[in-house]
Amino acid sequence: MPIATVNPATGETLKTYEALGAEEIERRLTAAETAFRTHRTTTFAERALRMNKAAALLDEDQQDIARVMTTEMGKPITQARAEAAKCAKAMRWYADHAEELLADEEPAESDVKDSGAYEVLVRYRPLGPVLAVMPWNFPLWQVVRFAAPALMAGNVGLLKHASNVPQTALYLEDLFRRAGFAEGCFQALLIGSGTVEKVLRDPRIKAATLTGSEPAGRAVASVAGDEVKKTVLELGGSDPYVVMPSADLDKAARVAVTARVQNNGQSCIAAKRFIVHTDAFDAFAERFTAGMKALKVGDPMAEETQVGPLSSERGRADLEELVVDAVEGGATVLCGGERPDGPGWYYPPTVLADITPGMRIHQEEAFGPVATLYRAADLDEAVTLANDSPFGLSSNVWTHNGIEIDRFVRDLEAGSVYVNGMTASHPAFPFGGVKRSGYGRELSGHGIREFCNITTVWHG
Ligand code: NAP
Repeated sequence: MPIATVNPATGETLKTYEALGAEEIERRLTAAETAFRTHRTTTFAERALRMNKAAALLDEDQQDIARVMTTEMGKPITQARAEAAKCAKAMRWYADHAEELLADEEPAESDVKDSGAYEVLVRYRPLGPVLAVMPWNFPLWQVVRFAAPALMAGNVGLLKHASNVPQTALYLEDLFRRAGFAEGCFQALLIGSGTVEKVLRDPRIKAATLTGSEPAGRAVASVAGDEVKKTVLELGGSDPYVVMPSADLDKAARVAVTARVQNNGQSCIAAKRFIVHTDAFDAFAERFTAGMKALKVGDPMAEETQVGPLSSERGRADLEELVVDAVEGGATVLCGGERPDGPGWYYPPTVLADITPGMRIHQEEAFGPVATLYRAADLDEAVTLANDSPFGLSSNVWTHNGIEIDRFVRDLEAGSVYVNGMTASHPAFPFGGVKRSGYGRELSGHGIREFCNITTVWHG
């Protein structure tokens, strides 16, 4: 894939970049290692000052960077601005909380005594330069979600961003530099995916985090495993959205539309499979389909646009293939399902019913505004259908029945369960998946500790 900004609304290539050569990569690895030596010794207060400055700069730049993101990957401009605001919030959250999250821990006095020690403490020390391989879909957020805790913990970062968002990648490098982080603390590596292995095998890189597709995760984790380097993987998702009869159906249907089409349907935590109890099915399907049909699809730079184009021609072709396969297998199209003519990689909001297990869309991630509807006879079948996926990122359940809630929270195979609401990450809550959605957690105290050397300090 060329490293380039290609506007998904028009298909026009606006700017291309040369991939970094071996010499420049070497220079940057050295800079990262050098920066780490100093950065790891800075105080939390010094890091927080810079992180808060980065948040303030990002707030100032919000309009401009939102336009860059929309130009590079097509998200509606209102959502691009919201993404920038969310990043500033996460930066401030880690600036405020890192010290407390990484404070020394003291084991129980009886255990300390039992070990024969006078004192024992557990200290969270940084690991070193971490390679971050990131996707284009939330081109600021995915990076900040890694960078804010990593820098606050005393690590330094090297970003290999998706090849279609180079301007956003360079903006981030510049942002952290302007905020006062020393040269080398956060660098963008404009490289293709074929160069990732070489960088990851470099002994100066201590760990890697990847947010992206399952094949990319597998490739990076294999190399990291071979090098015995820690990884965090945030991969795909096909989240269930279960609606039971006691739910507020109007609200559940309204939120379902947003949950499916946010970010033009290209979100890992978008609700993708809508599993509805048979007693609520018809009413929900009608309201949800009406909501999907009413969405305003168009120029992502326009304030009123709710759904823009998909990020790439390939992405649209992949989505279309899934829909064609389902329709050929007997799925019913309740709305959408036809790619429009004209420039840009648009695909209409689509609802498919009568999905069966043999269809590809039943097992694969639909990365675009396509929803699948399932009818569940009862609670057991709803749970079974929800778990019948290789993925396990998040899940959404709509019910006011306490027994049902307990059952979903106990049995859903996912990294989170959102009850009567849609999945939305927050800096204070752990985020991540199980099964083929990956492993490890980002955000919260769990996220900042992923790339720490958890050190036992024993005093005799
Ligand atoms: P992708 O194609 O896997 O790309 C992600 C990143 O990995 C890019 O930087 C890409 O570089 C790189 N990459 C691809 N193949 C690689 C390989 N073999 N070795 C090393 N690096 C490789 O994914 P995407 O299309 O950008 O993003 C969509 C996917 O990300 C979806 O599956 C979505 O669900 C998932 N996602 C997950 C989360 C989460 O938190 N769990 C969040 C957002 C997105 P190039 O661009 O140069 O190919």
